[in-house]
Amino acid sequence: MVNSTAEQPAEVVARLRTTYRTGRTKPMSWRTGQLRALRSLLTEHGQDIAAALHADLGKSESEAFRTEIDFTVREIDHTLERLEGWLRPEPAEVPEHLGDARAWTVLDPLGVVLVIAPWNYPAQLLLAPVAGALAAGNCVVAKPSELAPATSRVIAELLPKFLDADAVAVVEGAVPETTALLEQRFDHIFYTGNGTVGRIVMRAAAEHLTPVTLELGGKSPAFVDRNTDVRKVAARLVSTKFLNAGQTCVAPDYVLTDRETAAELEGALAEAVQETFGADPAESPRLGRIVNDRHFDRLTGLLDSGRLVVGGAYDRENRYIAPTVLADVSPDSAVMAEEIFGPILPVVVVDGLDEAIAFINDRDKPLALYAFTESQAVRDRLVAETSSGGVGFGLPVAHLTVSDLPFGGVGESGMGRYHGQYSLETFSHRKAVLDKPLG
Ligand code: NAD
Repeated sequence: MVNSTAEQPAEVVARLRTTYRTGRTKPMSWRTGQLRALRSLLTEHGQDIAAALHADLGKSESEAFRTEIDFTVREIDHTLERLEGWLRPEPAEVPEHLGDARAWTVLDPLGVVLVIAPWNYPAQLLLAPVAGALAAGNCVVAKPSELAPATSRVIAELLPKFLDADAVAVVEGAVPETTALLEQRFDHIFYTGNGTVGRIVMRAAAEHLTPVTLELGGKSPAFVDRNTDVRKVAARLVSTKFLNAGQTCVAPDYVLTDRETAAELEGALAEAVQETFGADPAESPRLGRIVNDRHFDRLTGLLDSGRLVVGGAYDRENRYIAPTVLADVSPDSAVMAEEIFGPILPVVVVDGLDEAIAFINDRDKPLALYAFTESQAVRDRLVAETSSGGVGFGLPVAHLTVSDLPFGGVGESGMGRYHGQYSLETFSHRKAVLDKPLG
């Protein structure tokens, strides 16, 4: 067991539970103090975290700050500014037969919660949920991903130094350590990762009737309507698809468009890739690397799923795969069978909006649905006639940077939601209170 205190999981949880029972994590002052301390960790050690992210994923410093460090700081600031208001008791209307009674709800912390994070945004996806759990007044066990070992290490070292070490613990490790953790009784488990492990987490949680949030992935489509400016569409697809070398849960997974638009879009995508990453993307500091050999081999196995428009080059030693666009991709091809989670963008041709909607609804509910269209009627139909965790028109990925929007999946893309006030709700119990005077 590798963890910051060399304790066994049962001991870690018992220690945190003892802290929780003292009531020390409940006052507003403790919560805001912890959030400020987490903020200081991120601002004082941003460079150390960025260096770890570079070591794990080849992330550039600017991308590390934008998508992980500053992102989490913004989420903390948003919460600090509003927490007091969010925690105010909410009155409920009382029915006539209860006369002069009053009713309201309060948000109760849950107790000791577990946050399990993946490797692709290993700092943000661990610390943003931790911030929500602390804001709600809980003790937290944080389990970083072993597949981003440098980030896991730096967070395991820093977190106990900045935060209340009797209320927040980091447990590092892989499957055996996570399995041992999952045997413990938690009051909530917040898991981000793939659906296979999501099922393992949910089964383990069922033993203790522990509620879960599962932030999973899936194939998020990007529909491109006819008569849209393909140059602008291509620029936005390229900047969001190839972020973190395509290893982003809300990245546009594939493009759906009609044959005529596909022909125009292909050229525009090739140009946008060139403009963004230069003639040789291997030299571009903007392009990250694939996390490990297993994912590298899986991804290179998908490269012959269609006609190559741009990219296709790779280098196993550096786990480099060029930003790649594939055209004439059949819905039955390997690249369309599962979430790509890498720098490969297939373009699938459909016969307009009706077929696009049917295509989306024939598959698992995605984490996000994107569309580029000038038509309000098309936007309305997509919102009304499809189901996905979230929807982004005109700009993929950005919806998750709006702290007032819930972030989460539906169906195969997950259950539950977080960010801003939704994190507070996730890590709290909304308790009903009724007060009927005796007189
Ligand atoms: P991963 O392999 O790092 O796994 C995530 C966590 O699960 C790790 O902490 C790991 O230790 C733990 N784990 C792995 N196997 C386990 C087992 N058998 N038992 C218990 N715990 C285990 O990350 P991943 O799953 O490869 O992450 C990629 C997936 O996550 C993609 O599908 C992606 O779409 C999804 N994702 C979703 C979001 C979101 O916010 N919805 C964000 C990022 C990634």
